[in-house]
Amino acid sequence: MDVRRPRGSGVEEGRTRYRWNVVPTEDVSPRDQPMATVAIIGASGRIGSFAAHAISHDPHVGDLLLIGRPGSEDHLDGLARDLGDSFAARGTDTRISWSVEMDDVRGSDIVVCTSGIPRQPGQSRLDLALQNGRIVAPAAETIGRVAPDAIIFMVTNPVDVMTSVALRSSGMRPEHVFGLGTHLDSMRLKSLLADFFRVHVSEVHTRIIGEHGDSMVPLWSATTVGGITISNLPAFTQIPMEEMIRTVKSSGEVIIRKRGATTYGPGEAIATLVRTVLGDENRILTVSSYIRQEVHGIGDVCIGVPARINRNGVFPVPIRIEEDEVRAFRESVEKIRTITQTVLEKLEFGD
Ligand code: NAP
Repeated sequence: MDVRRPRGSGVEEGRTRYRWNVVPTEDVSPRDQPMATVAIIGASGRIGSFAAHAISHDPHVGDLLLIGRPGSEDHLDGLARDLGDSFAARGTDTRISWSVEMDDVRGSDIVVCTSGIPRQPGQSRLDLALQNGRIVAPAAETIGRVAPDAIIFMVTNPVDVMTSVALRSSGMRPEHVFGLGTHLDSMRLKSLLADFFRVHVSEVHTRIIGEHGDSMVPLWSATTVGGITISNLPAFTQIPMEEMIRTVKSSGEVIIRKRGATTYGPGEAIATLVRTVLGDENRILTVSSYIRQEVHGIGDVCIGVPARINRNGVFPVPIRIEEDEVRAFRESVEKIRTITQTVLEKLEFGD
């Protein structure tokens, strides 16, 4: 690792790494293949800085770029040095740099957007929509201009609405713009079910689709334990479904009330998704993505759905679900669509 200096500081930062030629070329390991650059916008914030640390564990990441606002130079420099020390302690040679110029996302493979106002206790994610839209729209416009082949990964809340704002403002392809969506909600439910059935979490598969918020929809019909659909298990009728979903819905709010912010859960979830893209893993995870008509013909909005994720981007998977689940999903979509349209109109007409 050799970089602890700002980009755009007048010091030209090349990507070339100079190495002693100590191994014959046929022994060059995959570690010497070109690796990815991940930029994090809003890196001075809580979720941005922890996500940077979590992402740095990914062996596909060669360069991490921390982006903040003008005025946060000292903070970003201190953060880069602290993270650099963690790489030294871990023994990895990830390079880290920082900038307060959005144009420096040029050349990034993934741009993770965490800039924005967080929820205060008692506030809903949707209360933030217009405020954060005004932060996300210009950032996305810049990414679309200077890094049109990158993938935008939206974290800022309300994440479904912000994913649409990023898609519209960047002008990028839908499969290159996605949001954290209900991935963490799905993982929270998976963990509760594993506790209930007293099995390892890897034995449980489940999904929550729809809004990352109050109208989220658990897909019980797509929930399995040990590969068996839960309705075929004797304990099915005893699952406290309502209570589990209440717990999932309120978990972010409870954490914010008790410690001010959610950090480690979303930070790890962000790192998982970055690894899924860069590792070309083709996993199906539940993220906010632009749907056309993949869920019973419902579409033209960004919302949490199962999507296949690989190096080319995020591709919603067409699904059939139970009637009551379709009804609930449709309601969730309409709620998000209305807010998205309002925010997009206000951003467009400068209200
Ligand atoms: P935070 O610690 O307050 O950090 C906010 C970040 O946004 C900082 O980097 C801040 O820069 C930047 N920022 C604030 N106002 C800005 C503006 N007007 N223009 C440009 N940048 C601005 O908040 P956080 O806890 O990290 O949360 C950040 C966002 O992520 C929030 O919207 C939150 O709701 C969301 N979030 C989403 C999930 C999810 O599951 N989707 C989970 C956690 C958090 P300065 O340091 O210069 O002020």
